[in-house]
Amino acid sequence: MTYKLFLFVVLVISVPVKATTWGFYAHKKINRLAIFTLPVEMIGFYKYNIDYMTEKAVNADRRRYAVKEEAARHYIDIDHYGDSALYKMPRYWKEAVARYSEDTLQAYGIIPWHVNILRYRLTDAMRIKDTQNILRLSADLGHYIADANVPLHTTVNYNGQLTDQYGIHGLWESRLTELFSNEYEFFVGRATYLSNPQLEIWDAITQAHMSLDSVFSLERRVTQKLGEDKKYSFETRGQSTIKVYSSEFSRAYHKSMKGMVERQMRKSIKMVGDFWYTCWVDAGQPDLEQLIDFEFSEEELAERKKELEAWKEETFKKRVHEH
Ligand SMILES: [Zn+2]
Repeated sequence: MTYKLFLFVVLVISVPVKATTWGFYAHKKINRLAIFTLPVEMIGFYKYNIDYMTEKAVNADRRRYAVKEEAARHYIDIDHYGDSALYKMPRYWKEAVARYSEDTLQAYGIIPWHVNILRYRLTDAMRIKDTQNILRLSADLGHYIADANVPLHTTVNYNGQLTDQYGIHGLWESRLTELFSNEYEFFVGRATYLSNPQLEIWDAITQAHMSLDSVFSLERRVTQKLGEDKKYSFETRGQSTIKVYSSEFSRAYHKSMKGMVERQMRKSIKMVGDFWYTCWVDAGQPDLEQLIDFEFSEEELAERKKELEAWKEETFKKRVHEH
């Protein structure tokens, strides 16, 4: 094999597939640290399950190989919808479907709406004290919220493939966090209640998307400054040698972004805590301590689910009457 061909092969092997995500490492860290933003009524339960919350932080990504619908939940190619899409895109699912059709939305990513669906599901799981689902949905919700805060999850050019910056996705969210996140300050304060979570996640996407200019232009600038030959190096992982962004290049790029990766990671941690907390408040602040090491039986849960549905039906009818 010629050297050039060899380079090509390793490069192809080492680039991520469409919309991979904050590296596994960052996802786990975000879910884990979000627990420490929670109030005293919640923290015991989550801390008791801290290993689960950490490990399952990456479940949503693993599912993508098995579940066809999964991929679209991790991103939104907002620039597909035009220059001012960031401001004009309907924030709520029904209006967005009415304007663009569900097929189109699925094709270009549904992350903001999927976060909101999970938030409702988690609230319901808390209402009926369904321990398994509280844990599963909390972990998944943490995953998608973290993805929504990654600039490269908000663009058609998600891996620099349109601007000759192929590989930038994994560089930004995996390589940099693995190399430098031990230098970050992760104290983010306490979780706060979100009065409109759907708009909150849109704000996060807007802000992430606005950082994209820097993400791309600084990568180009640092490449020019250091030269292509210093951009990559080879690392041995187990049996294989892979091409990676060199630590010199990674450090220079990381520095040029002036704390952006740290800022987005901190934002993710705080926002995950905020969402969990908001679901808990909306569920009527159930006693989670009671669920430590305890689960209701299937029959009891089914009964509770039925009660919840009936209650929702009632509330809905009343509202319709009022108007
Ligand atoms: Zn993801």
